[in-house]
Amino acid sequence: MGEKELYDEISKTIDNRASDLNHISQEIWKNPELGYEEFAAHELLTTFLEKEGFNVSKKTPLETSFIARYGNSEGLKIGILCEYDALPGVGHACGHNLIAEAGIGAALGLKAVLKLKPDLKAELIVFGTPAEEGGGGKVKMIADGCFDETDFCMMSHPTPYELPDPYWLARIQLTVVFNGKASHAAAAPWEGINALDAAVACYNSVSMLRQQTKTTCRVHCVITDGGQKPNIIPERAAMNFYIRGLTDKDTDELEAKVRKCAEGAALATGCTVKLTNDDPKYSAVKTNPTLINLYVKHAKELGVEFNDDEYRTKLLASTDMGNVSQIKPSIHPLFKIKSEGPNHTHQFTTAAGHENNQLATLKSAKSMAMAALDVICKPSLMEDIKKEFQAS
Ligand SMILES: [Zn+2]
Ligand SMILES: [Zn+2]
Repeated sequence: MGEKELYDEISKTIDNRASDLNHISQEIWKNPELGYEEFAAHELLTTFLEKEGFNVSKKTPLETSFIARYGNSEGLKIGILCEYDALPGVGHACGHNLIAEAGIGAALGLKAVLKLKPDLKAELIVFGTPAEEGGGGKVKMIADGCFDETDFCMMSHPTPYELPDPYWLARIQLTVVFNGKASHAAAAPWEGINALDAAVACYNSVSMLRQQTKTTCRVHCVITDGGQKPNIIPERAAMNFYIRGLTDKDTDELEAKVRKCAEGAALATGCTVKLTNDDPKYSAVKTNPTLINLYVKHAKELGVEFNDDEYRTKLLASTDMGNVSQIKPSIHPLFKIKSEGPNHTHQFTTAAGHENNQLATLKSAKSMAMAALDVICKPSLMEDIKKEFQAS
């Protein structure tokens, strides 16, 4: 049996299971769950994989993460990552329901060829990774050693663009809390120390700082506490910042400057300030050249058209898949779905639930499965992947 037949087996399997796969993404989409609260999605995915003959460790190592295995544990170990968390207020505006679908689709396709050709030694390990949109599920799973045994890891993400290797930014979360002194805002304002003023001063300083940052740097924040009532001088104010850069170094340097803005605002207003990194740091994604070239080759053969390189800066975002890519050869391509707006908009939520975007999701699933199959069949490819990873 030649490679062509095996590619066909992957395609045929994923096409035959299209309605089951669609059901998975629809169920997750209809019931959006925030990071670390993805109980229904966890149950749905683990039950499905168990029925498919995977050896599933539920709630491992986190309450809403899982690890599901299929195949020969002495062979190449292929990590396929699923995400399924949603965003507050906008539901599945990042399309993580489709990430889960693409991952499960790729797993079904690969399972079919392993069943057909038992002499192909490989083990599929499907990882259910919660809380990508803040919380860093993968970072916690890395700390637990979850991905250590894999030879390489793959996942794909829906966006309005088709890009094999987009720029992914490193991201640091910073919580800023100012403490001042409450007082009657009309009767004795001079007795108060206004923590909201400190937050506003900090916000304005960061706004000015943006003029001096690199074009690939990003800094944005929300004020999460601005006081209780207008007639009380706010004694507490809190801000939540995301600070991003193309490299860890750029991001660290920008964080140091944002910290100075907060310290300066505290000094100017007489408040005290407390700075903490409550969320794990996300690293930039390191895309493995050999693996992504295989993915692109198969996607093109399936009729997928990629955007030009200039689009790499169109959607600067961050992901905890970056952290996985720092410890294992990885890919995290973007696949294009038809949407009236970019990720994190209500329009993208609609797109992520639309049946018209099924085809693109299944093509991405097939491309991942076929790329993995190539590496299983040709050991020299794994050597190349390892060499590139060590050199990078
Ligand atoms: Zn997102
Ligand atoms: Zn996302």
